[in-house]
Amino acid sequence: MNESGHCISVAQASSMLESGKISSRELCGIFLKRVEETESEISSFLHLDKDAVLKEADASDARRAAARQLGQFDGIPIAIKDNIAAKGQPCTCASKILEGYISPYDATVVDRLKSAGFVLFGRTNMDEFAMGSSCENSAYAITRNPWDTSRVTGGSSGGSAASVAARQVPAALGSDTGGSIRQPASFCGCVGLKPSYGTVSRYGLVAFASSLDQIGPMANTVLDAAHIFDTISGRDPMDASSLETSGKTSASLANPAGLKGKKIAVATEHMESPGLDDGVKKVFSDSLSLLRSAGAEIVEISLPNSKYAIADYYVIATAEASANLARFDGVRYGKREPAKDLIETYFQTRGHGFGPEVKRRILLGTFVLSSGYYDAYYLKAQKLRTLIRNDFLEAFGKCDAILSPASPFPAFKFGEKSDPLQMYLADIYTISANLAGICALSVPAGLHAGTGLPVGIQISGKHMAEKEILEIGAALEAMRTPKVFLPEIGGRK
Ligand code: GLN
Repeated sequence: MNESGHCISVAQASSMLESGKISSRELCGIFLKRVEETESEISSFLHLDKDAVLKEADASDARRAAARQLGQFDGIPIAIKDNIAAKGQPCTCASKILEGYISPYDATVVDRLKSAGFVLFGRTNMDEFAMGSSCENSAYAITRNPWDTSRVTGGSSGGSAASVAARQVPAALGSDTGGSIRQPASFCGCVGLKPSYGTVSRYGLVAFASSLDQIGPMANTVLDAAHIFDTISGRDPMDASSLETSGKTSASLANPAGLKGKKIAVATEHMESPGLDDGVKKVFSDSLSLLRSAGAEIVEISLPNSKYAIADYYVIATAEASANLARFDGVRYGKREPAKDLIETYFQTRGHGFGPEVKRRILLGTFVLSSGYYDAYYLKAQKLRTLIRNDFLEAFGKCDAILSPASPFPAFKFGEKSDPLQMYLADIYTISANLAGICALSVPAGLHAGTGLPVGIQISGKHMAEKEILEIGAALEAMRTPKVFLPEIGGRK
């Protein structure tokens, strides 16, 4: 929000800084003021050191004054989800078990943002260890949806989504294991990109389910998301699963190829899903009409195994989580509960340190990996994962992208989904992309007729087809109504 009440995007901030219209100190000051005005209602941040932000801003201004800026984004603030390491800053994953833990190093994505001159702007709230779809599983704070503070932000990257939607910051990083970038982006009315598996290094991301986790950008425009993705993506020797990427996705958004001849698919199974809200369905069909009017051909495809995606995910993700979270033993990281011996230390630390959802998943994951049940659950889930991936491979033989809602419903009220199985259904459209390793983008496409809440549409593309889905997202963004998604917080725009 600048003095005249407009929101400043990453791209706009960049040209304002380049032309000398604004300094980084002034820019960061505008966002810090916005935090001051709105944070008591939203609670996006677990940690925000204002002096540190201004110090980094001053360093950026000094670089520009000496014509030694690090690039076009030097001096622009960005928020970081609290499961991504930034040297000298807390990294709690919103868990009591990591209370007081300070990262000794930078995640590769943080290192790349810093090398591009971005100013780190606080640590955002999340579901504990990224397990959840509402941000209600945080051990520290309840983040509220800027559009309606009696509703959840979605999760697990709820703090990042809320901070971006409330214009407390122009962009943020989130992480997505089964929908944690796209679903909160949809609930809060911002853009969220889950990159293809391997395109963004996970070095320094606290692992939840390593074969599914990806870090990605959240922003108010598709172009901004592309800029952040271009900054953080590419091969990293510290992450063996990372891949070389080619070209800048943001460059193609300046001269989009247009949608003529593009085949955009709708999956029959997605439309038949029983929990799909009518208002969401309406925004979805309006989006299809817009894309069709812009020259895209709409085709129908089938993803026959998508109905098993949630069950499949909750076997694979919990199995991997049970192994990944074994490292939190009270010896190496964060908090240690006093106890008489080592075994007791484990029991006390893990017993008190983890919240109920994390414990549920560790138990489930340990069970599906245990001898006697491994073949019946884990192995079967891996086979099913291959079938889900094959469905996508076949579908992408017939289309360029797949369109679906990002979530079957808009943001729900606090406590409304206290049954974990109900909560898991919030990810019905997002989870398959992680299982298949493909990329997917959520773009705000319209407002829900009943509640006035934002509705996000998901555009899924082939592995490493970020450029293509961002182009379709930008086209949808240019045609949608309203043009700008800006919540009224406490009566203020
Ligand atoms: N909501 C899903 C879960 O609870 C996905 C979380 C995520 O993507 N990190 O596991």
